[in-house]
Amino acid sequence: MAVDLIGKRMKTMFVFTVDVESRTHGDPRSDILGILPGYEERYGIEKIMGMLEAYQVRGTFFLNVYEAAKHGEVAVAGTARLIHSRGHDLELHTHPRPMYPYYGVADAPFEDQVAIIKEGASLLQEWTGKKPVAHRAGAFRANMDTLRACESIGLLADCSLSPGSLVSVPLIHDLGVSNLVRRIGKVWEIPVTYYHQLRVGRWHSKRILDIEGSSLLEIKRVTRWAVRQGLPTVCVLLHSFSLSRHGKPNWSVIRRLSSLFKWLQEEEGIEVCTIEQVCQQLTHDSIPLSVTEVPCTGLLLTWNRALLAWNDGWRNLFVAIAGIIGIAAVTLALAYLGLRMLKY
Ligand SMILES: [Zn+2]
Repeated sequence: MAVDLIGKRMKTMFVFTVDVESRTHGDPRSDILGILPGYEERYGIEKIMGMLEAYQVRGTFFLNVYEAAKHGEVAVAGTARLIHSRGHDLELHTHPRPMYPYYGVADAPFEDQVAIIKEGASLLQEWTGKKPVAHRAGAFRANMDTLRACESIGLLADCSLSPGSLVSVPLIHDLGVSNLVRRIGKVWEIPVTYYHQLRVGRWHSKRILDIEGSSLLEIKRVTRWAVRQGLPTVCVLLHSFSLSRHGKPNWSVIRRLSSLFKWLQEEEGIEVCTIEQVCQQLTHDSIPLSVTEVPCTGLLLTWNRALLAWNDGWRNLFVAIAGIIGIAAVTLALAYLGLRMLKY
């Protein structure tokens, strides 16, 4: 068995984490609330919360509070209250630029990191009356000083380790790549789950578990692997703008999310939790000592995803066509061999 378990085995906790933020040149009305021209329904955080609530579960919403300096405190505080009032887990997301001279929190020295995180946590508490317990760095730019800063202000968890991201993740240099929750000082580091979409020998292609970038089949495959391995958490990434694209509802992602909720409800060995609930349930005894494998979803699922999204970017089109050419080539080769065998 790949996992060495100590203590009792617990259900794998599946966490929907939503980064709530406006894009660089975006507007909170569209990027956070999902107000789209020509559509009465909203396709932002209210839609995501509504879908979670329909299945009697809650999500964790990491709010970029520093946007208050750019879009006004009324708008950002209103978002915080909206999430908190519906019983979801409201936590801190740090894109400090509007208030501090740093792109990511890890770009700041330790003392400034403490100041940034402390200010963010204070704003959330001021707006909702509840102190946050967790942090996620914007663009996953967290380092060991970030974890120490979280600890110094009493946060229980950080969710910035994202081994499958294409951006540079400083924590990877310190902690390595892993899907396993770890205790660093007094802070739980809860990674965003990642997988290999393709693996040949020592070469592999990594991918983050993201509702927009992963197909339903891939998410199911990775989740089943996590349950088999006894992993305490599976953490999937969403953004407040995940349900819309180019000013229109993103129906394929909405359908995928809905199907995922339904599937999770029926699946054994797994329960949907928030990061706050994960912190309450995690103990050293429930964590595998090591996980020696990363799930690999493989060629077929990668091709399937590309086929479903063939008109969304050149990479998908390339993989979809390459797969069709590959199947055609294999079919022709088999037909040729068959004909030759019939001749002799
Ligand atoms: Zn962000």
